Amino acid sequence: MFWTYILRCKDGSYYSGHTDALEYRIAQHQQGDISNCHTHARRPVEVVYVQEFGTREEAFLAERQIKGWRRDKKEALIAGRLDLLPTLARTAYEPVLRQAQDERSKAAEARSVLRQAQDERSKEAEGRNVLRQAQDERSKEAEGRNVLRQAQDERSKEAEGRNVLRQAQDERSKEAEARSVLRQAQHEPSKEAEGRRVSRQAQDERVRGAEGSPPNDFVSDEFLMRRALALAERAEREDDEIPVGAILIDADGDILGEGWNRNIAEHDPTAHAEIMAMRAAGRRLANHRMVGCTLYVTLEPCAMCAMAIVHARIARVVYAACDPKTGAAGSVFDLLADPRHNHRVEVQGGVLAEEASARLSNYFCRKRGKAVRVERKARR
Ligand SMILES: [Zn+2]
Repeated sequence: MFWTYILRCKDGSYYSGHTDALEYRIAQHQQGDISNCHTHARRPVEVVYVQEFGTREEAFLAERQIKGWRRDKKEALIAGRLDLLPTLARTAYEPVLRQAQDERSKAAEARSVLRQAQDERSKEAEGRNVLRQAQDERSKEAEGRNVLRQAQDERSKEAEGRNVLRQAQDERSKEAEARSVLRQAQHEPSKEAEGRRVSRQAQDERVRGAEGSPPNDFVSDEFLMRRALALAERAEREDDEIPVGAILIDADGDILGEGWNRNIAEHDPTAHAEIMAMRAAGRRLANHRMVGCTLYVTLEPCAMCAMAIVHARIARVVYAACDPKTGAAGSVFDLLADPRHNHRVEVQGGVLAEEASARLSNYFCRKRGKAVRVERKARR
């Protein structure tokens, strides 16, 4: 084994040599035993570089190269900066240089691998982003589908509701039919009588069809006027209003609406009994036309109610007491029979007229009596 070495002397100068016994040679330099060497006069010395070789020739070659270098190259070698020593690198230091290059290329490779890994990580992150977006869009889509489904549900519920309503209406009309049949049966219990009645009714209807008048004999006018008078009584008793009552029936004799005066209670100048009954009927029929219907009212209709009756296309009006102050069915005006209307109304007055006017007179007497009593109290 052979070594090339560099020593730094006390004055900062360098000395290079080669040996096959490194430890012994360094000791000789330290002690000044090599008399022809300049280190003898410049002790102590410091070993700053050692390189091992397989043969004496290699070690000698290396020593000669180092001796030929300027100070900065020697210091580069000592500092391990082999890249600054191209000549040396090509000979003795080639393996060292190669190793260094290898390490550098490995480092570069490692950096490249690292970069790739980072790239992949960022691609992965990007992928995750894309995935998340896709999920978001899917969830938005699902939400949209939900909203759509709800809307459909509501539509189907609405349709169901309409069905139920239609059924209820059907049932009501069946019920009305049944009541009508029952009433017919009650009025004429014997089948023979019923047969006669039906045939008479058919005849009547044929006649009426020709004349354009409504049926009016299912329930007698008097019977229904009594009912209207009962409503008039409620007007007086419950609301302390002028006792007028009204009932509207359809062509089958079914009651569509009832009403009594509500002017004072509802602060409404139009709330006459006839109007109240027509409003109820309109709501029930879901129609402002009351074709073929008959209105029963305990007092002759005023001009307002008469016009409403014409607008509603009511076929027949039956009233009880005449109203010589505002009656519009012949007493003051004759609006229901006026030929200038497109629609003509059949009018029947005087049904239970005495009872109706007695009730009205009593009401007004009672009112005047009260007024008198209040006046007397005030005077006292
Ligand atoms: Zn009126």
